[in-house]
Amino acid sequence: QAKTLGRSRYEFFNVELRRRMQRRLRLEQDLRDAVRLGKLWAAYQPVVDLRTNEMVAVEGLLRWTHPVHGAVPPMEFIPLAEESDLINQLGAHVLRITTQELAARRARGIDVDLKINLSTRQLDDPALISDVEHALHTTGLPANALCLEITESALMRDSALASEALAALRELGVRLAIDDFGTGYSSLAQLQRLTLDTLKIDRSFVMRLGESTDAEAIVTSIIAMAHAVHLTVVAEGVETRTQLNLLRDLGCDQAQGYLLGRPRPAAELWS
Ligand code: C2E
Ligand code: MG
Ligand code: MG
Ligand code: MG
Repeated sequence: QAKTLGRSRYEFFNVELRRRMQRRLRLEQDLRDAVRLGKLWAAYQPVVDLRTNEMVAVEGLLRWTHPVHGAVPPMEFIPLAEESDLINQLGAHVLRITTQELAARRARGIDVDLKINLSTRQLDDPALISDVEHALHTTGLPANALCLEITESALMRDSALASEALAALRELGVRLAIDDFGTGYSSLAQLQRLTLDTLKIDRSFVMRLGESTDAEAIVTSIIAMAHAVHLTVVAEGVETRTQLNLLRDLGCDQAQGYLLGRPRPAAELWS
């Protein structure tokens, strides 16, 4: 009895595993085509200044509408791209389309900055700096209007290539942000050494604000730490009024979240 149960379980996992691997392989091929055909697009989420309540920036977030599966979330296809050689092409595409879309809005007098995400592997790509330079040059977007977000875990990797890339980006005048802060293990000393401009508090802490005094204590200390090294603090994932008011009271500089605006296509956001 136990033995047959064991075997059928094994077969179940086997079938399940094969099914998943096949979906992955197919998705990877589809993603390759989507990148090549320019089918990936960006949604823009407002970043709001907590003192003036004005939209000061937008974060460009990559979107993939699959012909069969519909919207595939970045959490699924970014790792796929990272495991293949696709991530650099994909990163170059995001850079191109978002700087173009933003420069077009700025030409119409909409004064907002652009934030986009960089993956770990892009920091190791020697073409990154020239891609950024090219995007700024062709669109006329000022370097200081572009902020590149890098996750805490990617920044703490201690890679020589990445440090060089960060220095070169800073040289261009581009802004740098540490994304999803609080999920890694960086120290105050590391934060200072990296000379970034912005720190984004991870949604997992913001989510618990107003429910747990622990979360409030953590957010308070993150803000104090960030301000000590002159970083602008952005809270991500703000969904309630309570969270927003608390963050403002705690001295957080900017916020982003469904309460303030969901990511939307440029044509909708600025219709
Ligand atoms: P992220 O950079 O931390 O972006 C914030 C994510 O939180 C976005 O998810 C956004 O839609 C979501 N979000 C914003 N406000 C709220 C809220 O109030 N509640 C909830 N529940 N979620 C909120 P999205 O667009 O699914 O992107 C997920 C992650 O994928 C991003 O996290 C980023 O790490 C990565 N990603 C997205 N676009 C790109 C890209 O162009 N390049 C790279 N390398 N990574 C990207
Ligand atoms: Mg981000
Ligand atoms: Mg983030
Ligand atoms: Mg996040």
